Amino acid sequence: MLTFIFGLKKFVPSDCSLDVYHIDYQQMFDLGKRVIFFDIDNTLVPYDEDLPTQPLKELFAQIKKIGFQIIFMSNNHKKRVKKFADAAGERFVANSNKPLKWGYRRAKKMAGCPNVEVLSVGDQILTDVLGSRRSGLDIILVRALKKKNEKWFTKINRRTESRIIAEMKEKYPDTYGKIKEIME
Ligand SMILES: [Mg+2]
Repeated sequence: MLTFIFGLKKFVPSDCSLDVYHIDYQQMFDLGKRVIFFDIDNTLVPYDEDLPTQPLKELFAQIKKIGFQIIFMSNNHKKRVKKFADAAGERFVANSNKPLKWGYRRAKKMAGCPNVEVLSVGDQILTDVLGSRRSGLDIILVRALKKKNEKWFTKINRRTESRIIAEMKEKYPDTYGKIKEIME
């Protein structure tokens, strides 16, 4: 149903990665990317952790050193997002309502970058991938860190997500293969 409304293409990520540490940020910079929109929950930390870990802080420092801006974009509430973002010393958009375009518009305004310079990173096809694609952005899908304690609506999303991934098998076999590889 959803793919009928938006078109399957809008659910297909640009690439997939096991986690945020396996992304080649230098290559992304060389390709012209200048800002990264990071999802937080289950992309950077599990739902039950509210601060960036030391390895994450080091990763952010590396990414900044390459020349990127970092903006956190989360559908979670302001208190949670602000605490995380402040600890990392970066800007954020909370209550971003992904897959709606509003949050992306706001983050793009913050970054002052054209769409081609933005790289989005997230763990959910129905929010992160669909929202990024609808906003004309490249997105790398990462494996969710911890699915066990996902909220009930995310669990429902995950079921729909499986159906959408199955639909990709025929039309987007490469992406389908990559998604299966990181989900295993
Ligand atoms: Mg997430």
